[in-house]
Amino acid sequence: MRVVIAIVVLVLAVLVGSQFGWNFVFAPLLGYGFIRWSIGSLRAMTGDDKAQRALEQPQPVAVRPAERVVYWCEDCGTELVLVTRGTGKAPRHCSITMQVREEIARA
Ligand SMILES: [Zn+2]
Repeated sequence: MRVVIAIVVLVLAVLVGSQFGWNFVFAPLLGYGFIRWSIGSLRAMTGDDKAQRALEQPQPVAVRPAERVVYWCEDCGTELVLVTRGTGKAPRHCSITMQVREEIARA
């Protein structure tokens, strides 16, 4: 059904364009594109649900100095020291999930 409508619109556009000039075909298309872009920009500025979801995420928590959390990559041996905990998920390196190692400082 959509293909039929597209073909009819295309034939109509060619007829109008060839009879009255292509300005009558491209000006409405340009206007439609501009209106769509404007509405999309306004929606992005109001920050509908994406910004709300970001606020509902758990806030980052600083790791206590007494505990030392190290993530290491089994594949290449890279080690990361966790300074601030964002989520409970381990980071990925070499497209695999890094292993966690928690060390507690001697008192
Ligand atoms: Zn790695």
